[in-house]
Amino acid sequence: MTEPSDTDYDPEAHAGAVLTIDLDAVVANWRLVAGKLARGACAAVVKADGYGLGADKVAPALAAAGCRHFFVASLEEGVALRRVLPEAALYVLHGPMPGSDTVFAAHRLVPVLNDLGQIEAWQRLAATWPEPLPTVIHLDTGMSRLGLSPGEVDRLAAEPERLAGLSLAYVMSHLVSAEEQDNPLNRQQLGLFNDLRARLPAADASLANGSGVFLGPDFHFDLARPGAVLYGVAPVAGAPNPMRQVVRLQGRIIQVRDVDSPQTVGYGASHSFTGPTTVATVALGYADGYLRHLSNRGSCFVDGVRVPVIGRVSMDLITLDVTKAPADRLFPGALVEVLGDSYTVDDAAADADTIGYEILTSLGPRYHRRYVGG
Ligand SMILES: *Cc1c(COP(=O)(O)O)cnc(C)c1O
Repeated sequence: MTEPSDTDYDPEAHAGAVLTIDLDAVVANWRLVAGKLARGACAAVVKADGYGLGADKVAPALAAAGCRHFFVASLEEGVALRRVLPEAALYVLHGPMPGSDTVFAAHRLVPVLNDLGQIEAWQRLAATWPEPLPTVIHLDTGMSRLGLSPGEVDRLAAEPERLAGLSLAYVMSHLVSAEEQDNPLNRQQLGLFNDLRARLPAADASLANGSGVFLGPDFHFDLARPGAVLYGVAPVAGAPNPMRQVVRLQGRIIQVRDVDSPQTVGYGASHSFTGPTTVATVALGYADGYLRHLSNRGSCFVDGVRVPVIGRVSMDLITLDVTKAPADRLFPGALVEVLGDSYTVDDAAADADTIGYEILTSLGPRYHRRYVGG
C-alpha cells in the first residue's frame, strides 16, 4: 500500500472556499489616496494582520510601491512586521506597555505615546539611549479612547523637560466620524487638534485616516494614515466607492437539492419554502467569519445572478436559493461568489448590520488564500 503524499492534496482545488487577495488593487488604492494628498506622505495602516488580508504580503507590496510609513496596533505586530520590512518606519498605535520600552527601541519601532505615563517611561529609556528616540504623541480630540487629554497637553507644555531626549516625529490625533462628510465633529476635531498642537513644540502632524483624506486638504497635514480604504472599503458614506475591490471569496457547492413546501431549511426552521426551490449548500459558515447575522439576509452570486442566503448560517455551511441561477453552474465542487465585485465587502457589511472592517478582519483561516499581483 502506498502512503498518501502531499501531492494528492491540492489545497486550492479541494478547499471549501478560496479567498483571492489582489495586491495590485491594494497598491492602486494606496496610490489613489496618496495622489489626493495636498502635501505630506501617505502611510499604510496594516494592523490586525493587514485588516485580515496578511500584513506580511500587503506591506511589502506597498513598500515596493513607495510606501515608507506603516502603522500596526501592537508590539507583537510591530516585531513581526520588522522582520519583513527592515527599512520602513514602523509605528505602534498602542504604545509601550509597562516594561516593553526596550523591545520597541531594539526593533526600531516608533511608539505612539498615549499618555504622560507612556511618555515618562519612554523618556527614561531615551536618557540611556545613544541617539534621540523617534516618538509620536497622540492627542485626544474627541475619541476619549487613547491620547493625551487637553489637561495633559497643558502639563506637557508647562514641563517641556518631559520631552528631553525624544525626537518628536509627529503629533497625531484620530477622527471619530470621518466617513460622514457633513458631520460637524470633523471640523471640531480639526480645530481642537490645531489648538492643542500649537501648545507643544513644533512638530509634523498627522490627523487623517483613509476617510479623513477625503475631507479635503485641511485634514491632510504631513502624514495620512489610511487603512480600510486600501482594502476596498468605501471612504465616504452614501457616495460611490472609488476604491478597487481587493478580496474575492468563492465558496464551494457541496450539494444541490430540490425542495418544496412545506419544508424548511436549517436550524430553527427560519425559512419556509413556498414552492419548488433549488437549494445549494456551500462549504463555509460562521466559523469562517461568515457572520451569522447574514442568515436570511446575505447574498451570493452565480454567474451574475443573485442567490440569496436562506435559513440560518451554520458553523460550516450556508444554504442558498439558487433557483434562478443557470443549472449548468450548479454541481458539487462548483464555486459561487461570496464576496467580490457583485457583492462587495460593504454590501455584506450593510446586510450584516456592521462595517466592512469587521467583514475583512473576520475572514477565516480555513479559506485557501491566493495572492495575485504585487
Ligand atoms: C485604525 C486606525 C487608522 C486607520 O483607519 P481607517 O479608518 O482604516 O482608514 C488610522 N489611525 C488610527 C489611530 C487607527 O487606529
